[in-house]
Amino acid sequence: MSDNKLNQVVVYGLGAMGRPMARNLHKNGLLVGIKNRTEGKTKAMQNELDLPEFESDAALFQAADTVLTCVSADQDLLDVVAGFIDHLKPGAAVIDCSTVSPKTARTLADDLASRGISFMDAPVSGGVEGAKKGTLSVMVGAERADYKRASEIFAAIGSQITHVGKVGQGQATKAVNQVMVAGVAQAVCGALAFAEHCNLDMKKAIEVLSAGAAGNWFLDNRGHTMVKDEFNVGFKLQLLHKDLKICQEAIKDLNADMDLVNQSITDYAQLMDRGHGDEDISALIRLRRESFNNTES
Ligand code: NAP
Repeated sequence: MSDNKLNQVVVYGLGAMGRPMARNLHKNGLLVGIKNRTEGKTKAMQNELDLPEFESDAALFQAADTVLTCVSADQDLLDVVAGFIDHLKPGAAVIDCSTVSPKTARTLADDLASRGISFMDAPVSGGVEGAKKGTLSVMVGAERADYKRASEIFAAIGSQITHVGKVGQGQATKAVNQVMVAGVAQAVCGALAFAEHCNLDMKKAIEVLSAGAAGNWFLDNRGHTMVKDEFNVGFKLQLLHKDLKICQEAIKDLNADMDLVNQSITDYAQLMDRGHGDEDISALIRLRRESFNNTES
């Protein structure tokens, strides 16, 4: 693999995360083009960033040394890569920032390697806010030489970039992250529902709990909003549900089982069934309050 830096990027997937990533790559002079399933979003961003229009997909992808993908789920990623794989030049790279399974990452890496194309799994944490500010935490699974070639790209989208190991290890790290996120949400939502039931002054309770051994990011940033029933800002619970299914599969592949993951999948599926899928994961407090209400009367 050549030591040449990767610096001509096509972003594929202009969703809530892909759009700000594309803007930051553009700001750093690294963006050559964009692609999205719904063409209206492509046109809007081409106008916003004054990007050239390519006469065909082949011309777009051949202008790039890197395609950075950020789409919803495993099958979507497999489909989009199948759609552009024939257009890529040997020596090019695909950097995937979606959250998918480690197995999907390894499958894609093998397919691409047979054509002389590198693959890096680079899932991110930090949400839409982090994507906008270019302060994402990026967990990269890749060959070391590829990781080094992509350093300018990673620096444009994130502030904490960590090469965690070979291909698939980035997604494994993200899965571990999501198990922790789910566990913290379970603990805080359950505890604050309990606090409400004890008729505590919630402002004071959150203040004092944040300063002690139970303090954590979720309590600091979502505690005050969830007790006011504000669930519109944050991380959509349907995305955590999707991520936890990936965790469940990865855990099953290790012949194990985690109650925390299974319970969280059940809880978030229930909230989605009730139409709360677009709400922040702290909406879990809705269910935890119900357990206390059931013991009343
Ligand atoms: P989003 O706003 O729903 O955008 C999804 C993107 O994927 C859109 O561009 C969509 O195209 C595209 N897409 C979906 N299925 C496709 C298919 N079959 N073929 C082609 N394109 C397809 O999602 P997001 O919030 O940007 O999340 C993207 C990824 O980042 C997900 O894996 C998510 O888990 C991960 N992530 C999200 C966050 C967050 O806070 N949002 C944080 C960390 C990681 P259309 O425009 O045509 O629908």
